[in-house]
Amino acid sequence: MTEKTLCILGSTGSIGTQALEVTRSLGLRLTALTAGSNAALLEDQIREFAPSVAALADEKAAADLRVRVADTPTKVLAGSDGVAECAGCGANTVLNAIVGIAGLEPTLRAIAAGSDIALANKETLVAGGSLVTAAVHEKGVRLLPVDSEHSAIFQALQGCPSPESVKRLILTASGGPFFGKTRAELQRVTLADALKHPNWSMGAKITVDSATMFNKGLELIEAVRLFNVPAERVEVLIHRQSVVHSLVEYRDNSVIAQLGVPDMKIPIQYALTYPERLPCPVQTLDLTRCAALTFEPPDDELFPAIKLARAAMRAGGLATAVYNGANERANELFRGEHDGAAFHATDSADRSVRAEQIRFLRIAELIEAALCAYTHEMHTQSGYTLGDVLDIDTWAREFVQSKSSGKE
Ligand code: NDP
Ligand code: MG
Repeated sequence: MTEKTLCILGSTGSIGTQALEVTRSLGLRLTALTAGSNAALLEDQIREFAPSVAALADEKAAADLRVRVADTPTKVLAGSDGVAECAGCGANTVLNAIVGIAGLEPTLRAIAAGSDIALANKETLVAGGSLVTAAVHEKGVRLLPVDSEHSAIFQALQGCPSPESVKRLILTASGGPFFGKTRAELQRVTLADALKHPNWSMGAKITVDSATMFNKGLELIEAVRLFNVPAERVEVLIHRQSVVHSLVEYRDNSVIAQLGVPDMKIPIQYALTYPERLPCPVQTLDLTRCAALTFEPPDDELFPAIKLARAAMRAGGLATAVYNGANERANELFRGEHDGAAFHATDSADRSVRAEQIRFLRIAELIEAALCAYTHEMHTQSGYTLGDVLDIDTWAREFVQSKSSGKE
């Protein structure tokens, strides 16, 4: 394993720091690290892992980092171009743990450089769609899932003789902190309530996405694109315990599931060692201490995210990019972020003093309105470029922003 080179994008985040724990335990060689603005943590990481290059998307923070690590051989790049340059450095594997659409261009750069992609940044597949899948095909690189549900499906598909033998993919969802609440209760929930996830400790954006269930909508689209199955053959079930990470049902009605403690280091490591399995620094799953494992269908009326994801896929064109962009902006507004505040999204001290700019239930309404406007006014089925995806992302964000002060 030691000769394999690795680049981690988003190394200061929840997935990024866990990926570094795996890197440390496996003794992998890191060639590049990137983050948004956290110069202090990236400095520590550079001192420990000695990558040849590092980048911060925030130019000012990059200038600060350059001074901090002037005594090391690591070259520091700045801005989103700097991040993309690191992504394209030609490492054997590029693990993309950037949050949001900012991860799309780096993924494309890494694929173009012939690197295998370990993908946590689901927004890459949801917004980028066929741009990404076609590039992966053309360059013959591997696209390895890091998302726990998709890793579970990928694991349950090992040994699958042919695509026709798969009947259904079953994605599990924890249901988040608001599972079982009534509409009246959801009208009063706050950002602080949404940030209390029952089973997983994650970045702020995905934690809110879990509360709204838009995370599962994004994952449904991600599954369709990763495994090339029609959306009708991907089902979502609420599984509160987060022990069964997802399942594959075959045409003989045999169902294969992957189980484990809810710890992202397992899927991160599998993406880095595939097809090998190596010891991993996580707890073992003690089945005798698991409570009953329960499964039930999601409530599509109170949480319309999955229904809207299916509608976006049926609409085709850039509708899933609209779904993603509208969700990113609505999620930011619920987290009280103003435009341009993205670089402090993971600053928990800062987060605690923010106030929601929209109510929880408004998030889904705004995304539905953006999808409706797109399908009626601007829909096109023809092929698209990266520029088209970024333009429609901007349009969806501006649409949500402009409607956000409207009636709830
Ligand atoms: P975090 O918010 O914890 O981390 C995001 C990382 O991206 C940080 O390193 C951040 O840097 C960096 N970043 C932010 N903005 C930019 C930008 N504009 N350009 C470059 N880098 C940027 O997120 P998570 O780790 O929770 O999630 C990362 C991705 O993984 C998401 O797509 C999420 O959906 C997915 N995922 C996460 C899971 C989890 O358990 N956390 C599980 C499954 C999937 P800085 O710290 O400097 O802001
Ligand atoms: Mg997931």
